[in-house]
Amino acid sequence: MRIVLLGAPGSGKGTQSKLIMERYQVPQISTGDLLRAAVAAGTPLGQQAKAAMDAGQLVTDDIVLGMIRERLAMPDTQQGYILDGFPRNLAQAGALDDLLKDLGKPLDVALLIDVDFESLMQRLTGRQTCASCGAVFNRYTHPTREENVCDVCGGELTHRADDNEDTIRNRLKVYEEQTRPLVQYYNERSLLKTVKGEGEIETIYKAVADVLASTRQ
Ligand code: AMP
Repeated sequence: MRIVLLGAPGSGKGTQSKLIMERYQVPQISTGDLLRAAVAAGTPLGQQAKAAMDAGQLVTDDIVLGMIRERLAMPDTQQGYILDGFPRNLAQAGALDDLLKDLGKPLDVALLIDVDFESLMQRLTGRQTCASCGAVFNRYTHPTREENVCDVCGGELTHRADDNEDTIRNRLKVYEEQTRPLVQYYNERSLLKTVKGEGEIETIYKAVADVLASTRQ
């Protein structure tokens, strides 16, 4: 199952990816996670990417495509994968199509998680991630039992550097201008499926799982 997950920042792509990954045993490939790891490790690639990320702008296509090519060459992608946060613009989508054509393994589905603007702002400003196990919480919509302590492993919760109001506004603008056109792109290729992304995580996942089950047939 080769899946592109589409949706604005804060739409729940990361959360739903993790659930799909468990169910279908395919890796989640998040370009945002790969870039944050490169920044944290201080690699040359991370140093190049950091300024754009801090400003809520897109990192250059060259950097991201290089990472994706490398990642899709790894053996754990043989049975499929979930692309989370990639592609982010039409040039990346075209490059992905070319790459997959070369590999003879086209996408199965582009799944859009559709969430209204107000909910996105609330989710992004409240988002907290566990520094130890990566579990995601939200101060407003999914609070932990004890403030700043992970419910899963007791680790410390952190706030992503780019989850502040100015950067969030930029990220949502970038989404509208550069990423939203992908909805039409995949629709024209008959790959687009949409689920509503408001409400309980489990309810949304049920809708996601139904779409994926119907895609497999
Ligand atoms: P995310 O975790 O997907 O919200 O990504 C965080 C940040 O990483 C974005 O705001 C961009 O600066 C950068 N980024 C992630 N994925 C991409 C991509 N496919 N193309 C360009 N920049 C990206």
